[in-house]
Amino acid sequence: MSDNIDYVVVRTDRRTICIRILPDLSVQVRAPLSSPDVDIVSFVASHQEWIKRSRLKVTERAASRREMRFRSGETLPFLGSPYRLDVRLALSRQRVQIRGDAIVAEASNPEDEAAVRALLERWYVARARERFPSIIDGCLVIAARYGITRPEIRIRTMRSRWGTCNPRKRSVTLNAELVKYPKEAIELVIMHELSHFQHRGHDKDFYEFLEILLPDWKARKTYLKHD
Ligand SMILES: [Zn+2]
Repeated sequence: MSDNIDYVVVRTDRRTICIRILPDLSVQVRAPLSSPDVDIVSFVASHQEWIKRSRLKVTERAASRREMRFRSGETLPFLGSPYRLDVRLALSRQRVQIRGDAIVAEASNPEDEAAVRALLERWYVARARERFPSIIDGCLVIAARYGITRPEIRIRTMRSRWGTCNPRKRSVTLNAELVKYPKEAIELVIMHELSHFQHRGHDKDFYEFLEILLPDWKARKTYLKHD
């Protein structure tokens, strides 16, 4: 029975019953105006496992989206590896350096988390601009065999895309945030965008071409939550 799951029923002008897990993990059941209560109760009862799994997924997603903190002791990713953040007072100019397994941020005000965050964000973009070119070169060696010549590459922070391609302007934009991920993931995004010079949309031909450039592209997809 469903007596261990609390839920709110919302009756709407719809044809089927569905369950939604809201961000606060509460359960909302949307049902047709005419659904008998007993149908709703049995629908929820038969979806208990699904509700549990979905709540877990919402929790995990929230955790991975949770704002990164910028204090000493936090873990920051760089090229797919975790580094311990060490925030110190800058004796002269502010700077960020990798020392062993730590990212050492020397900030003028280590207590000002927003300022430390801005310092680290600039550092990530700079590292992306430093590291991406050789990865791009490696991808272009392969792509060149299929007639793809070097496009103009831009690197900047983007909110919701890992990369974009503008075949008309022959340009590719890469999200600087990728520098937090393994090289394999960065290569996947580059190859994906380069493939758009041959195939505009995400159709079968596009993915067949991507598979020629990068035979294990499917496995690499797991590194990135969106592409
Ligand atoms: Zn695409």
